[in-house]
Amino acid sequence: MKIGCPKEIKPQEFRIGLTPHAAREAVAHGHEVIVEAGAGRGAGFEDADYVSAGARLADTPQEIFAEAEMIVKVKEPQPAERAMLREGQLLFTYLHLAPDPEQTHDLLASGVTAIAYETVTDAQGGLPLLAPMSEVAGKLAPQMGAWTLQKANGGRGVLLGGVPGVGPARVVVIGGGVVGTHAARVAAGMGAEVTVLDRSLSRLRYLDDAFGGLLRTRYASAGNNAELVAEADLVIGAVLIPGAAAPKLVTRAQLSTMKPGAAVVDVAIDQGGCFETSRPTTHEDPIYEVDGIMHYCVANMPGAVARTSTIALGNATMPFMLALADKGWRAACAADPHLLDGLNVHAGKLTNYAVGRALGIDV
Ligand code: NAD
Repeated sequence: MKIGCPKEIKPQEFRIGLTPHAAREAVAHGHEVIVEAGAGRGAGFEDADYVSAGARLADTPQEIFAEAEMIVKVKEPQPAERAMLREGQLLFTYLHLAPDPEQTHDLLASGVTAIAYETVTDAQGGLPLLAPMSEVAGKLAPQMGAWTLQKANGGRGVLLGGVPGVGPARVVVIGGGVVGTHAARVAAGMGAEVTVLDRSLSRLRYLDDAFGGLLRTRYASAGNNAELVAEADLVIGAVLIPGAAAPKLVTRAQLSTMKPGAAVVDVAIDQGGCFETSRPTTHEDPIYEVDGIMHYCVANMPGAVARTSTIALGNATMPFMLALADKGWRAACAADPHLLDGLNVHAGKLTNYAVGRALGIDV
């Protein structure tokens, strides 16, 4: 199969869909790999690394979209890329269609077959292609929250860990899954007082076991959410309902109960966000203020640490990418129901129930 990997064009996105290691494996499986020149540079991979892995370089994305049978990317195709997708072409990337009717419309109109990283599942009920980026975003969230809380950024001027004689900041993490667990680990490691809220008692049990006295857990009832958000210096939004838009768990009215200059880091922004006042921001302009509360809502947080993220994502996507290339998408999905869960769009039809429900489109 001809596998194409264009340079990412979303602002401040430095990751690349294929590492040189993945390109080498695909070539060893007998596939032809075409990588856009310069596409790996943001993640610290030179064109020469791809050439020595057996890939061919293309000067423009147009060449790649015209030639490749499968496009492997990181972020959802941008409008200029969507215009180049062809009927019958296979697209393997993050899509996050639930909050994005415009992209959904374009993918349906293109006739492409699109497999979304974020809805591929595993035997444990997890999301193996979201997990590595969730690990990265989770570990970044307290770091970004700590920065947002600094006075020069409009924050409360509170140091997460406190100092001898001054208490630590209160960090509340809503959603104790992969993002939430990694965020809680780093926030606790920085010395903050951490509480994790979740609706899943098994997650709360796991966190309680794994972290002992390093953090507290509370059931995510509306009452507990409201109480803890009001007391927090930093709230990290980390909920997920797979394939669906994030539930709005903190309303605008609740902001007035928070401490002036408190910060929210809404990691769930790529699914629409779990704060009513969240809107997506970029690494170039990451924070904004609503009613005295600082919001950090970067939708592609892992792009900030592009090298770590690219390698982590490549480790997870490679076996699926190889299965799709070796067998074709139909046979690969027929052989692996977890990969089939990733199928979001085929031949002008939406094929994922949760995404369809979120968008009000019949599946
Ligand atoms: P996950 O499935 O591992 O965890 C989500 C958790 O949310 C689960 O434990 C679930 O029980 C909990 N939850 C669901 N509804 C809840 C509710 N009403 N109240 C409290 N908890 C609730 O998911 P994850 O991998 O941790 O991802 C979390 C979010 O972060 C997703 O929206 C994901 O798309 C997003 N994400 C964003 C970035 C970024 O760059 N902004 C990067 C990676 C992941």
